[in-house]
Amino acid sequence: MLSPAVIAPEQLHIVLDAGHGGLDNGACVGCVSEAVLNLQIVKVLEQELINHGCAVSLTRVDSESLNSPYARNKKVDDMAKRREKIRNLAPDLVISIHQNTFPSSSVSGLQCFYANETAGSQDYATAIQKQFNDSGLPFDKNAKPTDFNLVEHSPCPAVLIECGFLTNPQECKLLQTPEYQQILAYHIATAVIREHSRQNATT
Ligand SMILES: [Zn+2]
Repeated sequence: MLSPAVIAPEQLHIVLDAGHGGLDNGACVGCVSEAVLNLQIVKVLEQELINHGCAVSLTRVDSESLNSPYARNKKVDDMAKRREKIRNLAPDLVISIHQNTFPSSSVSGLQCFYANETAGSQDYATAIQKQFNDSGLPFDKNAKPTDFNLVEHSPCPAVLIECGFLTNPQECKLLQTPEYQQILAYHIATAVIREHSRQNATT
């Protein structure tokens, strides 16, 4: 196991959101379901953040989505329930985990997204992206704004991380290995805690 590089102040509370779930598999490439992979990575990241001294809550804790089975639009209801859960938990940061796809199989790499409207989101997304771009992994993307519902309407800083491309066979294979999931978790946790300390030192 990688040893924690930094220890979070105990009040740092992070909500992890595993994208999709229930009837919504998200992206499906071959037999790989984005929803399954998102939850796997969230569970590894949860443990890594706890090891770094953070308090962690999850929106989705298993393969089920949060919507009522009777909801007319299950996707809309699921998103509303996730937002409600986040509002009630009132964390310092939300991290929504997803996997990307692209028509060309050569495209790869992790990319962070943020909502323009929530103060602090861009700083967290930029810090996580920089951590990966500087890590020796072959990543060179920039953090970008998104209008993704959960992130855009978040009451606290929120970032969406597209961990990699399921349409790139090599990266898709890597994303499913516990070793690579641990590397992703380590870098996300390190970046988030350092950025939290930086923001608290300057405000
Ligand atoms: Zn997704």
